[in-house]
Amino acid sequence: MIKIQNEHLEQYAKEHYENLKDKLKDFPTDCKYSLEEVIRAKAEQLDEIAEWGKDKVEVYEFLISKYKNFTTKKDEYDAYDLAKKLNVNVCPYCNINSTYTVIKEDDKKITRPEFDHFYDKAKNPILALSFYNLIPSCHTCNSTLKGREEFSMKSHLNPYSDSLDEVAKFHLQIENSKFYHSTDGFVVKLETEDERAKKNIKIFELDTLYENHKDIVLELIQKEAIYNESYLDELMHQYEGTLFKNREDLQRLISGGYISDDEIGKRPLSKLVKDISDELGLR
Ligand SMILES: [Zn+2]
Repeated sequence: MIKIQNEHLEQYAKEHYENLKDKLKDFPTDCKYSLEEVIRAKAEQLDEIAEWGKDKVEVYEFLISKYKNFTTKKDEYDAYDLAKKLNVNVCPYCNINSTYTVIKEDDKKITRPEFDHFYDKAKNPILALSFYNLIPSCHTCNSTLKGREEFSMKSHLNPYSDSLDEVAKFHLQIENSKFYHSTDGFVVKLETEDERAKKNIKIFELDTLYENHKDIVLELIQKEAIYNESYLDELMHQYEGTLFKNREDLQRLISGGYISDDEIGKRPLSKLVKDISDELGLR
């Protein structure tokens, strides 16, 4: 699970509130939190609000139907607008599936990520439209996998505030040294000591899903064998300034992915590529 890195999130949360407030005039006046506080609550505050609202499901149920309007292209401001702004193009839960938003020039809305409610909206309707409770994500993670377990900030990592990248690493375990042509000679494990990360890994079936991408790891192993230091020096000597800007650029080309920590959310499988490249000394 990759952290959603965007320096404008606070601004987007404010605009999200500004765009919704007129449609939410029925928001109860006796709520402990103002409408603005509920909509703009930071990820770290969601637990407190969920706790307060959990026995008031009926009172806040109307927010679920407001959320439905938000997702059905009926409103002037809707889920497409939010998705477009957030520009999260790879699912932060799995870092595998693409979550592009496509809006055609004539404003025709074609596709967008699903919005997962980190706190389940049926049990926590008070958070149905809260900005940091809406996680842009892929269909598999949102609709197929996540619903099997109840999420909270105490039990799971939230992509707006936490990063699996910081607490878990893919690790390569070689079982057979003559494996250069096949994926049978090694295993890849996503390892962590963090209890919340363990839960994310389990619910999103990350171990199983990444088993299917061992071919990428095999390619990295093959590249590591081919691109030794002297060959890299040779390539630099020959192509620096023409084919690539500098050594970092060359290494990016070899690993085939973004390699800086703050860019891993931009490309599918980049967490896997980054960790294994680190382990192999490819970056
Ligand atoms: Zn996903």
